[in-house]
Amino acid sequence: MQKGEIYVGWSTKEDVRKRGGSGGLVTSMLAAALEKKLVDAVVVLKKINEFEAVPVITSDVNEVLNSAGSLHSVPSNFAKLIANRNLKVALPAKGCDVRGIIEQGKRNAINLDNTFIVGLNCGGSMHPVVTREMLEVMYKIKPEDVHGEEIEKGKLIFETKDGKENAITIDELEEKGYGRRESCRYCTIKVPNNSDIACGNWGVTGDLAGKATFVEINSEKGATLLQNAVDAGYVQVQKPDEKGVAMRAKIKGVMEGLGQKWKAKVFVPIENGRLEYFRKELENCIDCGACRAVCPTCSCGEVSKCTEYHSRSDAYKMSMYHLVRFLHLADACIGCGQCSDVCPVDIPLTRLYRRFANPVQEQLKYEPGMDMRKPPYFEVKLNE
Ligand code: SF4
Ligand code: SF4
Ligand code: SF4
Repeated sequence: MQKGEIYVGWSTKEDVRKRGGSGGLVTSMLAAALEKKLVDAVVVLKKINEFEAVPVITSDVNEVLNSAGSLHSVPSNFAKLIANRNLKVALPAKGCDVRGIIEQGKRNAINLDNTFIVGLNCGGSMHPVVTREMLEVMYKIKPEDVHGEEIEKGKLIFETKDGKENAITIDELEEKGYGRRESCRYCTIKVPNNSDIACGNWGVTGDLAGKATFVEINSEKGATLLQNAVDAGYVQVQKPDEKGVAMRAKIKGVMEGLGQKWKAKVFVPIENGRLEYFRKELENCIDCGACRAVCPTCSCGEVSKCTEYHSRSDAYKMSMYHLVRFLHLADACIGCGQCSDVCPVDIPLTRLYRRFANPVQEQLKYEPGMDMRKPPYFEVKLNE
């Protein structure tokens, strides 16, 4: 196997195939990497319920085989979890996870040579609190009664414990202010080809639909991961059919186009009063620092310029903390949405940070986390 090859595959373990999404290939590939000592540890999500899961770093093959599968209401991000641990590790990663990991690699907090990144196709994830409210308001069901969820043909489907399926189109949900997180709507990294191996259900056709995973090998590490899983008897693969390849390309194009449309809709230029706009949005900040702690590309450590400026003493009702971070993240923000997710006073932080970062990154033709180029402002060369 080598970089550039594509396959359709599934787990050879029946229970993993039944429990895991799309035939359980990702789960089995991660377990095989651990079993055959390709890595020392694997990151998995330990499910608590449909809306909560805890990421764990494990060396236990059974824990990997019993892990959660995809949870659309758990918008996790693993970059900081594995940073500064010096681990030989394999992990599943959505596009924004991959970007965070690559940016931490550039900042020497993660050794990318020792990190096997299994990319997952991602149409978007949802905030767990918003999802609970959406279930009551839109679906008229109690969150505790939910047994499983799936996205199919543009619909978000919740299965309740009585076996009933409740489906509403994502367009309708988003019109009413529910559905995917805002950052996911305008995200355009739907197939993470910046990972070692990109996996997902888009492009699986015929009898295998829903029972197998489409795989694109993006690096030598990705080839090693898949070959190891096949050799270890954990995974079976075959070549995809032409119809599936075409379908995958079509879905990817549609999703990316939709992301671009949302981007234009959300980031309407502010013609007048830009400073007032930022001041107003940030005036309720309580300086808790959660947005910095969770940011997957931020790696300055506890004592940093932004925290030094973290003060309410300035005369403006906008902490210098954010001004420093706007500049610092202009070439680093990946639009992952984590900062908005955690803000206790509901400031739409990702929108604010992307407002700063979009024009800078577009002008510099630099997308953080998409390749290994150093950030444009990483180092300064002084003319003699
Ligand atoms: S920001 Fe993009 S990659 Fe990340 S969860 Fe949202 S849609 Fe998926
Ligand atoms: S500023 Fe927010 S959206 Fe940007 S990378 Fe950090 S957490 Fe993600
Ligand atoms: S998470 Fe919200 S309240 Fe806390 S520092 Fe960031 S913007 Fe301020």
